[in-house]
Amino acid sequence: MYGKMKDFLASELKSLEEQKLYKHERIIESAQGAEIIVKGKKVLNFCANNYLGLSSHPELIKAAHESIEDRGYGLSSVRFICGTQDIHKTLEQKVSEFLGTEDTILFSSCFDANGAVFEPLFLAEDAIITDALNHASIIDGIRLAKAQRWIYKHGDMRDVEEEDQATGKMAKGLERCLKEAKEAGCRFIVIATDSVFSMDGDIAKLDEICDLAEKYEALVMIDESHSSGFMGKTGRGVHEHFNVMNRIDIITTTFGKALGGASGGCISGRKEIVEWMRNKARPYLFSNTIAPAVAGATIKAIDLLSSSTYLRDKLEENTKRFRKEMTEAGFDIMPGIHPITPIMFGKYPNCSQLAVDFANRMLEEGIYVTAFSFPVVPRGKDRIRVQISAAHETEHLDKAIASFIKVGKELNII
Ligand SMILES: *Cc1c(COP(=O)(O)O)cnc(C)c1O
Repeated sequence: MYGKMKDFLASELKSLEEQKLYKHERIIESAQGAEIIVKGKKVLNFCANNYLGLSSHPELIKAAHESIEDRGYGLSSVRFICGTQDIHKTLEQKVSEFLGTEDTILFSSCFDANGAVFEPLFLAEDAIITDALNHASIIDGIRLAKAQRWIYKHGDMRDVEEEDQATGKMAKGLERCLKEAKEAGCRFIVIATDSVFSMDGDIAKLDEICDLAEKYEALVMIDESHSSGFMGKTGRGVHEHFNVMNRIDIITTTFGKALGGASGGCISGRKEIVEWMRNKARPYLFSNTIAPAVAGATIKAIDLLSSSTYLRDKLEENTKRFRKEMTEAGFDIMPGIHPITPIMFGKYPNCSQLAVDFANRMLEEGIYVTAFSFPVVPRGKDRIRVQISAAHETEHLDKAIASFIKVGKELNII
């Protein structure tokens, strides 16, 4: 019976290739870090979510080993049958302390946490109000809920509905959505947003969002995947950056980025919400518990970050320096403070191909970066998205900047 589908998929896959939408994966032959081996060659990695350099940190590796020795390889159970160890409870406690929340519940990934969080809380009489550029997992999580939905234009806080220049479609601001949800008589209203948007590295205005939430009696849910561990002055997240830690009701985040980079995620926040999740969240009730090695190493990651801000401070310094020197060299850098640093190509002719050629030339120079083109980003917003890490030493940054300048001159863009 497969024959028909085989032909269909073969032709669809070919079409992806022709449209340059096929996703090719480069293969790394070493551990993740500032220096990696690709095709037998040592290159500097500037496109990992390894913000704090913890992915191969000796103390995390040691903690993972010890957890395997003491608590085994796997638990072969969901949490509520026989999949909860002491280290899972310890990790939940540590995450709550770190994020400044009342309680935390673990998931296999933040994708699962976002898939879990909306459906048990928001029913048909409720409203979910969501930023147009939210992560795929938030979008999917909202789809699973029966609640009414309002989508606001990315980052637009206003009480307006107007034509969006970029799309030609009508778009609303957050306050307009809140007003409409109120007028519709919704029981519970939640504003859901990424706190950092991964394509531009821009930050949700959590201060204004919390003010509006108060005004319209709404809850606030944020996804801190690109900020837990390093945003804010002690690395707690964007909620610390804006000093709104106790005004956020629900936080989801991942352990798969700055906090060790292996896997795992959580929902953290109000006590009753977390308790409700333990009883109702489907990816929690019907999916295996996170592996002891991941629990143990994530505890170590949080201990390291709680005892010293050295890594997040180094990341901040590295980010400032890279952004400053690249801007001074004449590159078109989207302004911001996040280690995600988009180098924009839109103002040059044939920008999509240029960004791809640029990234390929950088790899020849020993710098691993990736180009993003339409439809991953809007037309004319083609870019190379650099991600800075605390694992980068001065000489790594020097080499990357020098290579950018060399290739930039070669390709006539600076
Ligand atoms: C990476 C990411 C996720 C997914 O996290 P995983 O733990 O890898 O599933 C969810 N939300 C946002 C905003 C992300 O950037």
